[in-house]
Parts: sequence; C-alpha cells; structure tokens
Amino acid sequence: MKKHNFSAGPCILPQEVFQKSAEAILDFNGMGLSILEISHRSKDFIAVMDEARAIVKRLMNLNDDYDVLFLGGGASLQFAMVPFNLMKENGKAAYLDSGNWAANAIKEAKKLGTVDVIGSSKEENYSFIPKIEEVGAEYDYFHCTSNNTIYGTQIKDFPKVNTLMVSDMSSDIFSRVIDYSKFDLIYAGAQKNMGPAGTTLVVVKKEILGKSGRIIPSYLDYAQHVAKESMFNTPPVFAVYASLLTLQWLENNGGIAAAEERNIAKAKLLYDEIDRNPLFECFCVPEDRSLMNVSFKITDESKKEAFDNAWKAAGINGLNGHRSLGGYRASLYNALPIESVQVLVDVMKSI
Ligand SMILES: *Cc1c(COP(=O)(O)O)cnc(C)c1O
Repeated sequence: MKKHNFSAGPCILPQEVFQKSAEAILDFNGMGLSILEISHRSKDFIAVMDEARAIVKRLMNLNDDYDVLFLGGGASLQFAMVPFNLMKENGKAAYLDSGNWAANAIKEAKKLGTVDVIGSSKEENYSFIPKIEEVGAEYDYFHCTSNNTIYGTQIKDFPKVNTLMVSDMSSDIFSRVIDYSKFDLIYAGAQKNMGPAGTTLVVVKKEILGKSGRIIPSYLDYAQHVAKESMFNTPPVFAVYASLLTLQWLENNGGIAAAEERNIAKAKLLYDEIDRNPLFECFCVPEDRSLMNVSFKITDESKKEAFDNAWKAAGINGLNGHRSLGGYRASLYNALPIESVQVLVDVMKSI
C-alpha cells in the first residue's frame, strides 16, 4: 500500500511523476534508450531543459529579464554562490535570521564579507518571523528564507526592500501566489516541493550579475550558467526531467493559484485539529504558521507511544520532527492529497 508521506524532504511527488520518470528510465521518448544514457546535448534532452526553464517562468509569471537555471550542489551551495555573485568586495549584506537554514546562509556569507543580521528570532528558538519593515539601500542585497522548514514558520508579508532581494524558497516554492517579480534572485533545492534531490532551481534577474567585482570560480558564477543556458557542465539530467514532470502536473492542475487553495485547505484541516485538541500544540506563534510544514508537539508525553503507534499503523510516513527540534512535523507539500491530512487528523482525534 502506498503510504501517506508527510516527509519534509526528499518529499512526496505526484504519483504520475513516479510513473512517467520510471518509464523514461527504461525507454525515453521511444528512443530505445534510457534518459540516463543519452547525451545531455542531444535534441531530446535539450528539449527537456528548455521546457523546464520555460515552465518555471510561466508558472511564476516572470518575463525575459529573468533566467532560470538548474544547478547542482543543493540549496546549500547557493548559501555561498549568492554572496560570491552579489556581495561587493568590502560590501555588506542584510540577512534575516529566521531559522537553521537562514543561519547556515549567514555563516557562508560571513566568509566573504560583512553580514548585518537585521532581525533574528534565534533567542526564542525561531518560534516566529522577525518583523522588518524596510531594508535600506546601503546593503548589496537582502536575504531571507521564505519558509522555515524546521520550525514551521513562513513569511506572509515581505518587507519593503531598497536593494536586491534574495530568497531561499526551498520549502515553499510554487506553493502560493506571490509577486515573484519583486525578487532579484530566488533559489530552491528541488527535493522539497518541486522534484527529486539532485538539482537546485535558481531564478535570477540577469541585470544584477557581473557587478560584484570579484573573481568567481567558474561553476559558482551565475553568469557562466546563464551564458550556457544551464548547460555549463553536465546537468543533473534525471532530477531536471522529474522536476519538469512535476511542474507540468502543477500547470495541468490549475497552476500555483489552485495549488495554493488546496494547500490552504490542507493546512486549515490540520491546524484546526491542533487548536481544538489539547493533546497537541504548535511550536510557533499562530500568525507566522507555515502552509507547508506544520511543526507541533504532544502535550502529554504519556500518550506519545500510543500516538506513534497509531500514525504508523495508519500508513503515515515521515512525521517525526527535525532532530534539532523534536516533536512532530507534517509537511503538506503540493503533491500531498488532503485525504492524507484527514487520515492524520483522524488519528489525532483517536488518541
Ligand atoms: C532543506 C533546505 C535547505 C538545504 O537544502 P539542500 O538542497 O539539502 O542543500 C536550505 N534551505 C531550506 C529552506 C531548506 O528547507
């Protein structure tokens, strides 16, 4: 039986994506060859890359000022690539410290220059999004994490930013309608809401590149990837293909707006139960609750074993919280059906 997969990442993908990517591994486009053994310079794979880059722009409603890249190295490599490309020699950047991943991004940026942490909720165990009204033009760029995968918080209103705006959207990309054109650079590890592990999406406004004055190692230089249409070196072909299939599924199911509606309904179902049921409690403040990752704890430890046994028996997978926080975390990514959330809620009611 297929499980109800609440895993935070790598995450659930639409069943048809598993089906179609399995077929492509055996025989891609009826070529008599696997997608894993054809050249990335072949016409069939170039079509995959071209369409993957195009569909991202369509879904995000972005024009040709932007370019779309599928890179290796995970979101973690972006923690270094962003400052390499955007932080001037002797420059400084503003960062929002809203969780572990944000803190990791800050750590990398500090290796290249001055970082001002202009808001932090670290002292309160990242239980809320630090409020920032405006970011000044004295910074080379501002970096924020749109959704904090571990703590279950999400930025609802982005600040007014008078410099370049950069966001790590790994865990809520394509999950809600936002004005993506307010951002100069967006990145996301595919494995949270877009595809399998192995590729990272970068959406970048071309005009911001080439201005840091730094000597940048070639692979770390966005401009090189832009010039080569995301084929600077052998791209992660399978991860790009499976991401394309996921994005096609999203587009065929009403795009981001429809996904957001489904995500709101799923999150409401679960948060309503947490609020109603005295046995459960969220980690974070209500106003910053994430639609994607619901981090919660059990208030009566003596019921923990019964709860754990019950959700496992119900076919639920991936509900344990991140090792740094404990408790539980239900990730409600785009491909998770509301029926799975109902199964979890029924288990919560039964304890
Ligand atoms: C998972 C995650 C990362 C790290 O992604 P990798 O692709 O494993 O490097 C970074 N940022 C956020 C918000 C994440 O959820």
